[in-house]
Amino acid sequence: MGRKVEDTPKWIIVYDCPACGTDSGMTELQRPTCFACGSKNVIERERKPFTPEALAERMKVSADRMLLNLQKAYEEGPGNPKEEALLLSALAKAKDYKDKIHSMAEEMAKQSKKD
Ligand SMILES: [Zn+2]
Repeated sequence: MGRKVEDTPKWIIVYDCPACGTDSGMTELQRPTCFACGSKNVIERERKPFTPEALAERMKVSADRMLLNLQKAYEEGPGNPKEEALLLSALAKAKDYKDKIHSMAEEMAKQSKKD
C-alpha cells in the first residue's frame, strides 16, 4: 500500500536491442523492453543519473528516431495500399507524439531554470 521512497527512479538506462538495432531509454523501474519491436532481450549500454531533463532529452531522441524510421519505411515504398494507409496513420501519430515530447521537454527545461 502506498508508494515507497524506492519508487523514485535513480537511473536512466539505455538498452540496445540486438533483434532490430534500436535503442530504448527508460528508468530502472521499468521492465527492459525494446520500444520498436517489443523484444525483452535487450542489452544495457549505459546508465546515467535520473533527472527530469535527462529523461526528456532521452524521450526526444526516441521520438525523433521513431519518426525517422517511419518516414524511411514510407519512402522505401509500402507494399500495398493497405500498408500505405497504416504507415500514414502511424506517421501522423508519431509526429503528434514528437511535438508533445518536444514541448514537454521545453517546459521541463524552463521550470528547472526557475530554481
Ligand atoms: Zn527491437
